Amino acid sequence: MSRLVLRNVRKTYGGLEVIKGVDLDIAFGEFCVFVGPSGCGKSTLLKMISGLEPISGGEIAIDDEVVNDVAPADRGLAMVFQSYALYPHMSVRQNLSFGLENLNTPKAAIAQKIAEVAKMLQIEPLLGRRPGQLSGGQRQRVAIGRAVVREPKIFLFDEPLSNLDAELRVEMRGEIARLHRRLGNTMIYVTHDQVEAMTMADKIAVLRSGKVEQFGAPLELYNNPANIFVAGFIGSPK
Ligand code: ADP
Ligand code: MG
Repeated sequence: MSRLVLRNVRKTYGGLEVIKGVDLDIAFGEFCVFVGPSGCGKSTLLKMISGLEPISGGEIAIDDEVVNDVAPADRGLAMVFQSYALYPHMSVRQNLSFGLENLNTPKAAIAQKIAEVAKMLQIEPLLGRRPGQLSGGQRQRVAIGRAVVREPKIFLFDEPLSNLDAELRVEMRGEIARLHRRLGNTMIYVTHDQVEAMTMADKIAVLRSGKVEQFGAPLELYNNPANIFVAGFIGSPK
């Protein structure tokens, strides 16, 4: 479990500021959802937290350590993308173990960890298959599994369900919520789907044009939206 703090975080692409001073304090074990329209900066923010994109200004701290200059692999995070990003030529088992082999984890410990995570995500029968032989929902379970085996302090999800059909999306929402209850990790979940935000979050950050319009619990935003944008996006109609 970890605390994540953003202080006046900024990002400029070619002279254009796309993240305009974001402050957030995400508590230990919190399930925090970033929600906002397409292009508002959700993915950019997540990439800066993970270290995949350098920040143009401000500070990111994990457990009180400023990580601006810490390499992505050393931040203790794992990211799950919309596009799964599985290795097509490897089996599910190899996809799960790949990162761990790089960390020099003993073979027996890897096998045990994979067995445990495969059971948790109900992908045991799929371990011998290649990603091409899986359905969309199964692939997303494997992508989540690959993050889980690394035992990250913080999970980052970037619209992980947006490629799935509506029914499967609802099922996977429940799956991710169960995972959070079971592991207790801090999780940041990006979506443009208000329903997903309202049903999954402990805290929601509503983003618009590179700024946080409001940060609070779902009911707080629903009952007391800070402005008309939040009201229109998430709050009760007034
Ligand atoms: P979201 O994930 O909320 O849809 P993004 O974080 O992907 O939004 O993008 C935020 C803004 O930054 C958009 O205006 C987008 O065009 C711009 N942007 C994102 N990545 C790049 C990049 N690599 N180069 C230039 N502009 C970018
Ligand atoms: Mg995005």
